[in-house]
Amino acid sequence: MTTPPPQQPIPSPYSGAPVPPNPYAGTAAQQPNPYAQPAPGFPAPQGGPGAMPYDPAYAPPYAHAPAPGCRNCGAPEAANFAVRAHVGVLIMMRFHTLNGPFCRQCGRALVRIMTTKTMCQGWWSPFSLVIFTPFTLIWNLIAAMKFAKLPHPNPAPGRQPLEEGPPVHARPLAYVAIIPLLWFTWVAVNIYLDASGRR
Ligand SMILES: [Zn+2]
Repeated sequence: MTTPPPQQPIPSPYSGAPVPPNPYAGTAAQQPNPYAQPAPGFPAPQGGPGAMPYDPAYAPPYAHAPAPGCRNCGAPEAANFAVRAHVGVLIMMRFHTLNGPFCRQCGRALVRIMTTKTMCQGWWSPFSLVIFTPFTLIWNLIAAMKFAKLPHPNPAPGRQPLEEGPPVHARPLAYVAIIPLLWFTWVAVNIYLDASGRR
């Protein structure tokens, strides 16, 4: 701490008398600025008053590269793509997202589960029917194509990829989607008949 300077009459700078140097002028430059130190986790510059030993325990999560390989089984051949499901019933809507990366087998298994869930439960609110469920199904179609391009996985020791199970068209719950499709077709046909004056 600096001791306060002895009290002196402050000469006016306009009087012509010599002005003593400001006792506080030099302190800021002499003391290292505590805020000049680098944030923990970032590599400190070599040397200098702000240098800190780099401690990886304080590294923020985004400083690490994303873990390579499948999130579920650890297989190195994985595509970093999410799988989605949408549920919409009256005014209730739920958005489910499973972020990758996933290997071919885990990714395809999740696409089949999430797509079947969406085709069964995704249609029953207005916005879901028109926007969110079509978007989710197209998204999962793209995901399925990405995962299908991967080679068969070699899971990490002691870990198992998910069972792919039957394809979506072999899962009875997926056929609930016929109901909104029939309704949509019926609406479209009626609009056409009314517009063309055929009844
Ligand atoms: Zn996997």
